[in-house]
Order: sequence, then C-alpha cells, then structure tokens
Amino acid sequence: MERYDVVVIGGGVIGCAVLHELTSHGYTCVLCEKNAELVDEASSGNSGMAHTGFDAHQFRELQLLKAARKLNTNVYRKYEVPHKMTGAVLVAWNQDELAKLPGIVRQSHLVGVTDVRQISQKALREMEPHLSHDALGAVIIPGETVVDPWLLPIRLAHDALQHGAQIFRNCKVTDGYQTTTNDWLLTTTRGQLLGKAVINCAGLYGDEVEKINKESSFQIMPRKGQFAIFERSPKELLNGMILPVPFNQSYKGIIVFPTVYGNIVVGPTAEDQESRIDRSTDKETIDQLVNYARKTVPALRNKNVIGTYAGIRPATQAKDYHLITHKNRSWITVGGIRSTGVSACLAIAVHVKDEVIDKLKIQPSNNSPHSRSKVAGQQRSSIRVDPKGHLLMDGYSYKITHPLSRAGLLAKPKL
Ligand SMILES: Cc1cc2nc3c(=O)[nH]c(=O)nc-3n(C[C@H](O)[C@H](O)[C@H](O)COP(=O)(O)OP(=O)(O)OC[C@H]3O[C@@H](n4cnc5c(N)ncnc54)[C@H](O)[C@@H]3O)c2cc1C
Repeated sequence: MERYDVVVIGGGVIGCAVLHELTSHGYTCVLCEKNAELVDEASSGNSGMAHTGFDAHQFRELQLLKAARKLNTNVYRKYEVPHKMTGAVLVAWNQDELAKLPGIVRQSHLVGVTDVRQISQKALREMEPHLSHDALGAVIIPGETVVDPWLLPIRLAHDALQHGAQIFRNCKVTDGYQTTTNDWLLTTTRGQLLGKAVINCAGLYGDEVEKINKESSFQIMPRKGQFAIFERSPKELLNGMILPVPFNQSYKGIIVFPTVYGNIVVGPTAEDQESRIDRSTDKETIDQLVNYARKTVPALRNKNVIGTYAGIRPATQAKDYHLITHKNRSWITVGGIRSTGVSACLAIAVHVKDEVIDKLKIQPSNNSPHSRSKVAGQQRSSIRVDPKGHLLMDGYSYKITHPLSRAGLLAKPKL
C-alpha cells in the first residue's frame, strides 16, 4: 500500500487549495472526494466573490482574509482564472442607514482595508448610473472582486494532479485509526489508504469526518442561500456589487452583483435548515429576490430571469473558522468555512502547509524541487468547454458544477 505524506479529505474549494499548496511544496498527497465530481457541495453554490474582509469580525477569518488579499490576484493570473476587481458600493437607502456609513468606514480601516471611503449621492450616481435614484449615499470598497468560483479550485486541483498528486473521486472516507507508527490508516469506499497526516476539509460533513479523529468540537448547522440570475445585457447595468447596510455581523445581506461573465445576480438569502443536501429554491423567495433586484436597479425590469440556484454554507455554532491542529494526532481540521472560503482558500492552504511543517514536523518526501519541475516549461494547458458543460483540460474532463461558471463558460467555450 502506498504511504502518502498527506491525505486530504474533501474536494471543495478548501481541499483543492490545500492539495495544491502541499503538492507544490513536495508533499506526496492524495485527495479523497466522496462525490463523482470535485466542487459539488458548498463550493458550487456561492456568489463567486473574493471579499476583502472589510466587514469581517472573527479573528481567524479576518487574519486569513488579510493574508489572502496578497495572494489571490497573482494566483488568478497564474492560472488564468477570470476575475475582475469590480469594487462594491454599500448603499444607504434611508437616513438611519446613511448615519451608519462613517462607522462602517472606521471599522474597515481598523481591520486594515484602508481604501474604503464614503461617497456622496452624486458620486454614487456617476459610478452606478442604473442604480435607483432612491439611494442616498454609499461606502465604496474598491478591492471587492468577482471571480470564477469553480475554475479556481479546478485549476488548483488540476495543477496538483500534474505535479503527482492523486485525486480519488467516489471515494468516501468512512473510518480510520492511527497505527502504532502514528500513520493514519483510513477506510474508504475504494479501499484502505495510508498517510502520515490527515487534513479534514469535508465542508458540510466536517463534523462527521472529525469523529474519525475524536469527538468533534463543532457541529455543522447548514445555512441555505438562494439566488436568481438575470439574462445578460448588451449594456452593462452594473459596474460593481451593490451591498445593503448590514443589520448583523454575520450576514452581508442580499447583494445585486455582476458575475465575472456579465450576468447580473441577486442573492443570497440566509436560511437555517436541518438538511445538508436540500438545495431547492422556492418561488416565493425567488420572487422577493427578483423584486428587490428590480427595485435596486430599475432597468432589470426589462430583463428576464434565466436561472435560479441555491448553495448551503457549512455554518457552525461559532462564527469563526475551526482551524485546529491536533499535533499528536497528525490531523488538521479545516472546518466551518462558512461564507468566505473562495476568498480565503489560498491563505488557508498556506496556513495548513505551515502547520504540517512546524507542528506536525512532517518533511515532504519530494523535497527536491519535486515533480514541480516535471511540467516546468510545459505549454499552457489546453482548455475547452464541451456543449454538455464539461471543461476539457490536458486530457481530463471536469463537469462544471457551479451555475455561474456554467452559464459563463458555456457562453464562452474557449478560454
Ligand atoms: C450561498 C453562499 C454564498 C457564498 N458566497 C461566497 C462568496 O461570495 N465568497 C466566498 O469567499 N465564499 C462564499 N461562500 C462560502 C464558500 O462557498 C464556502 O466557504 C466554501 O465553499 C467551503 O468550502 P469547503 O471546501 O470547506 O466545503 P465543500 O465545498 O462542501 O467541500 C467539502 C467536500 O468534502 C467532501 N466530503 C465530505 N465528507 C467526505 C468524506 N467522508 N469523504 C470524502 N469526501 C467528503 C464533500 O463531498 C465536498 O465535496 C458562499 C457560500 C454559500 C453557500
């Protein structure tokens, strides 16, 4: 049986980023994904935004969003992941909200997002001419970015594959124990696996997978978010995201935003539910979202809704990430990455790699510049999209599971 340095459980945006980071540092890695496709749970139902963290309050989330700001754009460029720093305006629709804007600017500066500033009603109208004239003023957050949220993890996973990592789909990790030599012997639906360390990136099942190690310190509390997608417009109706003044610290509220491919989207809601799999949308909620979008941007009254979708956040009883290194167990928990996983995944991955080196004291088996050099100088990946919604890259086929990426990439079959 092959003995890997690291076994990553879960092929969402977090697991793919962790796999990429560890592989590129010479670790021999395997990623186990229980589904037939990568990126098919929480990571396939998000808004596709890389947030700056201007409104983040939780310690670890804030720390990692800050670190991610320095990494994201370079990685998007390196892997040719479509992205656009559209910025966002957080709009006041009444006097009470207007009075809150200076506090939002102060708070953003306190957490290090210092380019956030208040703008007048006139400046807002110039910036977003199609926004309802009921808007009284706004705070602008220039660094907010829209990105293809599916292509990012797929490019990371694909790069890891190219550098020797293994990815097993339809491979559910069901049990495991630490052997007398401290290795992990994991039982999966595809047989047994041996690894020196395990990284739990199981998203909506993070608490269940955690029990393989020890009693979970967190419980997943699924939170659904519904969206409606409008047809594309020949003329851009929005330059950036339109945020409401938030009414609590853990939910941004309903956003009207352009995707990186030019559709306008409204959502997400925040609905607590028992189910970890129910991603249905309902007419009443979608109608409310569509009405809100049309009130916010009146020109959307002439635009059809071409689709709806929902995602489920892996929320927990706490608001912050559950990043736990179980030093003597050679196990790292990356749980409860509730609503900023796309934004922070690269920094989370660097954090995990540092913990593997510093706390678990595991050296990479390939510590020469690794099979990293295996594809050095190779041609750019050949990428195309087939009409059935698969991305074909270097002989591999990836089903496009995210509705926003699917809508965008199918309309643009060649990257
Ligand atoms: C409505 C909504 C809007 C959002 N908007 C944004 C946004 O704009 N920007 C942003 O940064 N973030 C956003 N997020 C948050 C982001 O999507 C999540 O933080 C992220 O997807 C979490 O990724 P993950 O890899 O932890 O979980 P997942 O994507 O759920 O991945 C976990 C994987 O583990 C697999 N797995 C589970 N158990 C096992 C097992 N036993 N064996 C093998 N595999 C297993 C699952 O099948 C799954 O593929 C949003 C989320 C939602 C739902």
